[in-house]
Amino acid sequence: MDVNIHTNVMEKIVALAKRRGFIFPGSEIYGGYQGFWDYGPVGVELKNNVKREWWKTMVYGREDVVGIDAAIIMNPTVWEKSGHLKAFTDPLVECRVCHKRFREDNEEIIKDHENIHNDEKDIWTDAKTFNLMTEVLLGTTEPKEKSYLRGEITQGVFTNFKNVVDSTRVKIPFGIGQIGKAFRNEITPGNLTFRSREFEQMELEYFVKPDEKDSEKTFEEFKEIRMNWYKDLGMDSKKLRFHDHEPEKRAHYAKYATDIEYEAPFGWSEMEGIHHRGDYDLGNHGLKYNDNLTNEEYTPWVVETSGGVDRATLFFLVDSYREDGDRVYLKLNPKLAPYKVAVFPLLANKLELVEKARGIYKDLKKELVVTWDDRGNIGKRYFAQDEIGTPWCVTVDFQTLEDETVTVRDRDSGKQERINIDKLSEYFQNELR
Ligand code: ATP
Repeated sequence: MDVNIHTNVMEKIVALAKRRGFIFPGSEIYGGYQGFWDYGPVGVELKNNVKREWWKTMVYGREDVVGIDAAIIMNPTVWEKSGHLKAFTDPLVECRVCHKRFREDNEEIIKDHENIHNDEKDIWTDAKTFNLMTEVLLGTTEPKEKSYLRGEITQGVFTNFKNVVDSTRVKIPFGIGQIGKAFRNEITPGNLTFRSREFEQMELEYFVKPDEKDSEKTFEEFKEIRMNWYKDLGMDSKKLRFHDHEPEKRAHYAKYATDIEYEAPFGWSEMEGIHHRGDYDLGNHGLKYNDNLTNEEYTPWVVETSGGVDRATLFFLVDSYREDGDRVYLKLNPKLAPYKVAVFPLLANKLELVEKARGIYKDLKKELVVTWDDRGNIGKRYFAQDEIGTPWCVTVDFQTLEDETVTVRDRDSGKQERINIDKLSEYFQNELR
């Protein structure tokens, strides 16, 4: 039976992520550090695959998009002009009893905390606005210069708008894609990597002519493109929805905004924001576009798709988690799976089998991300590969030595078929298409 079990699924994911090398607590040998996480050997593969698929769709898949990779630390004037130093804030409240601080709009956490002090009344201070930018000090002489780790990767695109226009052949409408780290001094990090203080974003800033109707159409198109991206990579469409922002809940830069939400074990949660930023940013930076065909000069409007790499990675993990009796497996789309294939010799102490299997492993490794396992028995190896979502396991047995066939076992059905060694690469490449 293929049952997606959601009870306690977060605890199970946290345990599996640690046990199998997806996600480790940051600086764990010193007790960890709240809101910071490290990706392990299979986690980095999954996360890189998420980023690669995003880049394939949003940059390589389009004729009107180019990519950049801007610096994390920028001239502090950028953050003054972008409005982040004033308006990039969350409402912070403090518990008068234990002095812990929380984000006021996080209703679930607020309620949980009220339950801890249920005999006390009026436990909260008034909300104060709390700026999320992370400060850094630069320079070798005192006083050092205060700067910031970027709170969103977006500003690097705007500050390079002119450079991209001048150095390439892009013409409005066009987009600039970017993937990179962002930092926020979050009041209440939590739910594994969902809310971290260091995280990665994958964003497209799409520049259009300032036109109400056309830009709305672009906004609607990108909503669909981004929603379909998650669905095409296998996310359960019943667990995905749009959530339009009320005007008062929109970020300071947004003309209008929608989130793509995933129904996580801890409730519907934002995974990506689609924002119509109007001329807010280019206008603040004083940047204009000159159409050299018509000689028109104007400030383009921007439609943005802003996804969280870590949130998408986490929700792909959660969404793919399956229990089938005692068997646990991750039904990850093979494009996202950390390893595409695992190769084993049936017995680790039979030299002929090991040599044959090593040959297959080395050949497949030239074109696919492949892993090798000769520990324990076959059952244990299947169990381990299922837990990291490896779609296919190849076993070299005694029959292989006679007829050049191996068994290929499918992760989801557990079924095995015999395939000729010569046909293996074609078989996997077809499945990955
Ligand atoms: P939230 O309301 O959850 O704080 P946000 O609306 O501030 O998020 P945006 O500024 O729109 O988020 O950022 C775009 C995307 O970046 C989010 O949809 C999310 O996927 C990701 N992101 C934002 N903050 C964090 C964080 N602290 N940890 C991990 N990912 C984040």
